[in-house]
Amino acid sequence: MALQITQSCVNCWACVDVCPNDAIFQDTPHFLIDDGKCTECLGDHGVPQCAAICPIEMAIVDELGEFLNPPGR
Ligand code: SF4
Ligand code: SF4
Repeated sequence: MALQITQSCVNCWACVDVCPNDAIFQDTPHFLIDDGKCTECLGDHGVPQCAAICPIEMAIVDELGEFLNPPGR
């Protein structure tokens, strides 16, 4: 299980330090999540920390492509 960062990401760095698995890295043109490291925060936090802190709508999706921070959230 892993989340993904979309092209809506504005490279604000907010999610990088809250990830318990150091799964988020900078790439061109935006940040990405290493799907080999992302656990969706299971065992560490009740909710995915990257999605909880991300200020941008539609920047993080789950494996089904569902936005964790949909428009109007
Ligand atoms: S869901 Fe958790 S483990 Fe996965 S990238 Fe986000 S903060 Fe890291
Ligand atoms: S918090 Fe959201 S907008 Fe900021 S770097 Fe992470 S995914 Fe991108």
